Amino acid sequence: MKEKTSSQLERELKEGIDGALQAGYEVLRKGGHCIDAAEKAVMMLENFPSFNAGVGAALNNKGQVELDAGICEGALRRTGAVCGVRTIKSPIQAARFVMEQTKQVLFMGEAAEALAQDAGFKMVENSYFITPEVFAKYENDLIEWGRSSCHDGNEKVVLGTVGAVALDANGNVCSANSTGGIMHKPAGRVGDTPICGAGMYALNGAGAVACTGHGEFFVRTSAAYEAVRRMRGGENIDTALQAVLKDISSLGGRGGMIAVDAQARVSMQFTTTSMVRASIDGQGKRRVEIW
Ligand code: ASP
Repeated sequence: MKEKTSSQLERELKEGIDGALQAGYEVLRKGGHCIDAAEKAVMMLENFPSFNAGVGAALNNKGQVELDAGICEGALRRTGAVCGVRTIKSPIQAARFVMEQTKQVLFMGEAAEALAQDAGFKMVENSYFITPEVFAKYENDLIEWGRSSCHDGNEKVVLGTVGAVALDANGNVCSANSTGGIMHKPAGRVGDTPICGAGMYALNGAGAVACTGHGEFFVRTSAAYEAVRRMRGGENIDTALQAVLKDISSLGGRGGMIAVDAQARVSMQFTTTSMVRASIDGQGKRRVEIW
């Protein structure tokens, strides 16, 4: 298979994220709720094959896709998530269903799939998520692993989890995330993405945060909660995110965080080489960046 050039890939990524940004913005511009906006943006990215969520998600060590997604909102501090799901077309929709329609916060594997199916969500074969590009990466990485014995778990290929944070006109905040996890993860492994307080957190009056990166480190540091806690205490949004990422670096992990605070300030910080990211403000002023 012919590899895409980096400029082709960059263009695709920018197009994908820009489309998702626009879709979320349209919801907010019409006075919609931040939950609808964040869910919509994440759903678009799940359907876009260049991101590590839904179609195009990373493969586990058995060559299968196991997806995690979560959402949380800052008015009533509700959250909902699914993990290790293989057949739900849009895991973020199922996560929202868990948050709004059940008394629980997290469903795993087949139980989550049964819930989604009963709720009428679209179900697909696992192969629906596997793109030739990701399959090639998976196989190449296997070869690399075969050649070298000095990789540790932290060096596995991390593709970009997708996430969105939104603040609406009524001051409500929401954070939503969806991922295939880390390439070659052991089957059954779950990272930070569906864990409220780790991969995502939202609190009205403070802000909302969504994370990407080596999930284990984000769980160990309660990363998203810690960033929001700092913002609630009056810390500047940039320094709050930087402090958490620095702490994660001190443990040996890397990643990125996006956030919006109650004053509509946005921050997008990362310690990886790049992070595809975009933001739009109330006046429609947008930023789309990779490096
Ligand atoms: N945080 C995700 C996980 O550990 C991976 C990612 O962000 O790409 O599952």
